Amino acid sequence: MDHYQKYQTSFSGYPVRRPRLLLRPESYAGLGVTNPDCIARGAGSHYGDAALNQDGQLILTERLNRFLNFDEQEGIISVEAGISLKKILDVIVSRGWFLPVTPGTSHVTLGGCVAADVHGKNHHHAGSLSQYVLALELITAHGKRILCSPKVLPELFWATIGGMGLTGIIGTVMLKLKPIENAYMLVQHQASDNLQEIFDLLLQKNSINELGEYCVAWLDGLNSPVGQGIVICARHANAIDLSAQQRCEPFTLHPYKSYTLPFYLPNGLLHPTLVKVFNKYYHWRLHKKKSPFLLSYRDYFYPLDRLMYWPRLYGKRGFLQYQCVVPAESAYRVTEQILTTLATRKCPVYLAVLKRLGKESLAPLSFALPGFTLALDLPFYSQDLLNCLDRIDTLVVAAGGRVYLAKDARLRPEVFRNMYPRYNEWLAVKRSWDPENKFNSSLAKRLAMVNS
Ligand SMILES: Cc1cc2nc3c(=O)[nH]c(=O)nc-3n(C[C@H](O)[C@H](O)[C@H](O)COP(=O)(O)OP(=O)(O)OC[C@H]3O[C@@H](n4cnc5c(N)ncnc54)[C@H](O)[C@@H]3O)c2cc1C
Repeated sequence: MDHYQKYQTSFSGYPVRRPRLLLRPESYAGLGVTNPDCIARGAGSHYGDAALNQDGQLILTERLNRFLNFDEQEGIISVEAGISLKKILDVIVSRGWFLPVTPGTSHVTLGGCVAADVHGKNHHHAGSLSQYVLALELITAHGKRILCSPKVLPELFWATIGGMGLTGIIGTVMLKLKPIENAYMLVQHQASDNLQEIFDLLLQKNSINELGEYCVAWLDGLNSPVGQGIVICARHANAIDLSAQQRCEPFTLHPYKSYTLPFYLPNGLLHPTLVKVFNKYYHWRLHKKKSPFLLSYRDYFYPLDRLMYWPRLYGKRGFLQYQCVVPAESAYRVTEQILTTLATRKCPVYLAVLKRLGKESLAPLSFALPGFTLALDLPFYSQDLLNCLDRIDTLVVAAGGRVYLAKDARLRPEVFRNMYPRYNEWLAVKRSWDPENKFNSSLAKRLAMVNS
């Protein structure tokens, strides 16, 4: 991927949206008057077109990455929004603090995570990131810096959380952290050949003591029966869980080795047969480990960060990620229907992950709602996949669910509106702060989010 191409394709390699201009401000102080048709971009790890802007401008926030303040007693940081989660963790973990909510990669910016109101494997306990954001400074369409929080200008605050960058450029974030005793996680695997049992396990794991603080299920989307998988649960380790040596240096981890995939694999090399064999092996390997074991937080939360540019495994055709959430009462039925529909239409699923979600946040465009979220990596072979996903959208809407905008590359405007019933509430705030629609993106244009 050449340097410029990075800003016209999504992380998963799917849409091609060429921006007219790239701005890369060096300091937060340098950010001021905003130009029409621009959108902020963090690390570009959204899977669709949220931080792309065909024929418009992209404001790259990668250099706005400084720590501004760290209250070590209270566990509160103030940072510039372009800082990566990795950089935050490198500073806070050794001081006994952790991110209250984290997505499955640390190569994302805090600003990008706030703009998508990300959820982690602990959503059923902890909610989404917005619950821990104490305040934001936002550069609005007028070029002014506006401080907002749940108490100060709450409408603007909540429209910005999950607002996909469309209310302004998040300049700084003040975040409440979570205390930890060491850098390890206590993890347990439970295998199952049955989708219903996996749902039951995810529901049962309620308390931190039963390692239910973080839970996720990996599903084998290719081998039958559909729905066999492994439930992976964890909590932050206590001193008692550590070996004597680890207790002496609870925050010291082995040096972290990561690798780079230097080129795209040829299209189709990652064939379903190969992935089927890998899945069998993976299931067997995880299944073997029956008792709880320790993992560093990096290996538990961010396994994919070990292979930089891993989407190149899919070849230049790339892949789509489809992530939806379905309310608890119909989640099992709809998940089974989705997996069966894809199998019947011969659309292979290379990765399938199921998580339980808890309470909704106050943000009108936030994704999470009480239920289960299914995330699927789907190699992009043909147009049939898009038709199949349109069909799956109807199942999701009918069940009262929605698709995650941070992962979306193909939803239709009318379907988006059915999925996000509080969209008009969000639009009213957007219009009052950005009447000329200065902030716009390929996602917003495709979904007619700002010009309806
Ligand atoms: C391997 C992997 C695992 C993931 N796991 C999860 C997960 O478990 N849970 C989850 O919720 N998400 C997950 N994600 C999605 C990811 O967390 C979100 O897409 C996040 O928004 C990416 O942050 P970013 O810095 O890359 O932002 P970008 O991709 O650059 O941008 C995403 C959105 O944020 C906006 N934005 C970025 N910076 C700013 C700013 N400073 N001001 C205003 N708007 C801004 C952009 O305009 C865009 O709309 C995962 C992604 C990957 C690649």
